[in-house]
Order: sequence, then structure tokens, then C-alpha cells
Amino acid sequence: MAGVWILAEYVEQSKELLNVGRELAGQVGVELAAWTWNPDWADECLAHGADEVFLLPPLGLDQGLDAYIPIIAEKAKAILPEIILVSSTLKGKELAARLAGRLDAGMASECQGLRWDGEKNSLLAERLLYGGAGVQTISCLGRPQIATVPPRTYESAPRSEAKSGRLTEISEPPSSQVAILERKAREHQAQDITRARAVVCVGRGMENKPDLEKARELAGLIGGEVGCTRPIAEELHWMPEDTCIGLSGKIIKPDLYIGLGVSGQIQHLIGTRDARVVCAVNTDENAPIFAGADYGIVGDLNEILPMLLEEIRAVKR
Ligand SMILES: Cc1cc2nc3c(=O)[nH]c(=O)nc-3n(C[C@H](O)[C@H](O)[C@H](O)COP(=O)(O)OP(=O)(O)OC[C@H]3O[C@@H](n4cnc5c(N)ncnc54)[C@H](O)[C@@H]3O)c2cc1C
Repeated sequence: MAGVWILAEYVEQSKELLNVGRELAGQVGVELAAWTWNPDWADECLAHGADEVFLLPPLGLDQGLDAYIPIIAEKAKAILPEIILVSSTLKGKELAARLAGRLDAGMASECQGLRWDGEKNSLLAERLLYGGAGVQTISCLGRPQIATVPPRTYESAPRSEAKSGRLTEISEPPSSQVAILERKAREHQAQDITRARAVVCVGRGMENKPDLEKARELAGLIGGEVGCTRPIAEELHWMPEDTCIGLSGKIIKPDLYIGLGVSGQIQHLIGTRDARVVCAVNTDENAPIFAGADYGIVGDLNEILPMLLEEIRAVKR
């Protein structure tokens, strides 16, 4: 029977959870199961190491993901999994909290590290606190132990063509106490910067709004998205709030982060600390952003940005 379950909003996150899930399942000595509602993703989960995939039926047009909670909760009561890992997206966190409520289970959110304590038979979850100044280790009392994990905390589980897991199709219909009456695109809806491989971040050092176009061009050239610091989103309203990076914004984990006129205050850096390569352009050589940068240019972004664009355009030609 499955003892570690994973549940993610997107298939890429499922693969990451399967990676850490496989390690935990091995240590606990149980099977690893994935939940999904997409048949293609079910195949992917099997290819990435799930012993079992529970395929949920499609949602009705007026239903949200919460309609799956009763089904998953009933199965959990019957199977009693040790651990349930959920991706820490907006919807994922809601799902995990609702599931924990239904199962009267403990939940650790935004876990940066997970390990199994064999002596105590307990999942140890590490999470940041005090805005990233400290690390807290917690364990959930009772079963199942539920933890949410931010996207890109773990690498994807390796793919294998020799799928040996099984597919279990769930027939119970999804049900919810809430009906969705209308769906419409949000104005100025931004791309999801948490999923971007490269992020160009605009800070208060950019003085003129039209220069945003140059940041967008740079992001386009390197296949990334544009994010910003809080003053750009909340004070100047140059960019949507869901592109703000940091403590009160999004946590990003791109391969490349380029900060343009960003000072690097702790509240911002909390959102960028897991970027693989950090580049910064700032006129102030003592700007805190340089302390953690892999590449720094002390200079005026009004001069550096056009040069950077020209160089990259030339390479691409
Ligand atoms: C509770 C709380 C939560 C917060 N949450 C967040 C958050 O989630 N995200 C966030 O970003 N902030 C957050 N903040 C705000 C944070 O403390 C900083 O004020 C903010 O990050 C600063 O943004 P900035 O770097 O764009 O601006 P500044 O700190 O004003 O820095 C601008 C930088 O641009 C440089 N510069 C100026 N001109 C140029 C030029 N021509 N070329 C190159 N460089 C130039 C300057 O040297 C300076 O370093 C929060 C604050 C609090 C109190």
C-alpha cells in the first residue's frame, strides 16, 4: 500500500515531489503514490517513479480543485498514508490545509528540507522563519504528516522507460460546497515568475517607466520573465503585484536572476536566495545585492542595459 503520497498542481512539480517522495518512501519502507487529474500527467508520474498513480475524474465546469478533497481524504482514511507532500503553490497550499483539516492532521508549510527520523518514526520538516533569518525544524504529531514544498526545491525524479507502477482510476465524482460562477482573465495578468528559468528584476534604480521595455526585451532574449521589487509594484504601480519578488511577494528559483537597480534588502533577497546564478547592476558598489551576487556590474543601468542588449542581440544574430 502507498505510504508516501504526492499531490501537485503542475506535472513539473509532481516530478520534483516524486524525487523527495522516493527518498522518504525508501526510508520509511513504503510505496510512493501520486495523485493527478490529468491522464498525460499520470503517465509522466509513472515514468518518474511512482509505484501507483491515482487518476481523478475530470472536474465539472463549476468546480475548483477543492472538489477533489473529499475523495483524497476518504482514501487517506482508508489507506492511512504516512506522509502527504503537496506543492506550495497558491492552490496547493489551500488543498493541503483543507486536507489537513479534514483528516485532523498536522501540516508543515513551505518546507525547504525534508528528512525521515527513523528512531522517532517521524518526518522532520525544515522551514524558514523570521523572514529567512532562522531555520525551524518541526514534526507533525499524528498521521498523516502533511508538508507543502515550494516548487523547484528538489530536482525532478529521473525518468525511466521501464514503468512498473500501476494506474488506479478513481470513479467517485468530485464534490464541493462551493460553485464557481464565473471565470475571466485578470487584466494585466502576468506570467508566473515562479516558473521562469530566468528572471530580470527591475528595482527602484530604474527611473523611467518606458525603460521597462528594455528589461522586457532582455528577458525575452534570454527566455525569461520580468519581476520587480516591492516599490515598483506597490508604490509606482509600474508592474502587477504578482510580479513582486520577496517576503511579501513571490519566492523564485530561476537558473538566472538579473537585478537592475535593486539594492538587495533582506525582504527582497528572501525571494531570490535560491536563484542559481545572480547578476546585479547597481551604481552603488556597497549595495547589499553585491554581497550574494555571482556577477556584479557597478554602473548606471541606463548605460549597462543597452550595452547588454546589444551584446546579446549580436550573439543571437
Ligand atoms: C514587511 C516588509 C516586507 C517587504 N517585502 C518586500 C518584498 O517582498 N519585496 C521587495 O522587493 N521589497 C520588500 N520590502 C521592501 C524592502 O525593504 C526594500 O525597501 C525594497 O526591496 C527596495 O527596493 P529597491 O531595491 O527597488 O529600491 P532601493 O532600495 O531604493 O534601491 C534602489 C537601488 O538602485 C540603485 N540605483 C539607483 N540608480 C541607479 C542606476 N541608474 N543604475 C543602477 N542602479 C541604480 C541604488 O544604488 C539602489 O541600490 C518589504 C519591506 C517590509 C518592511
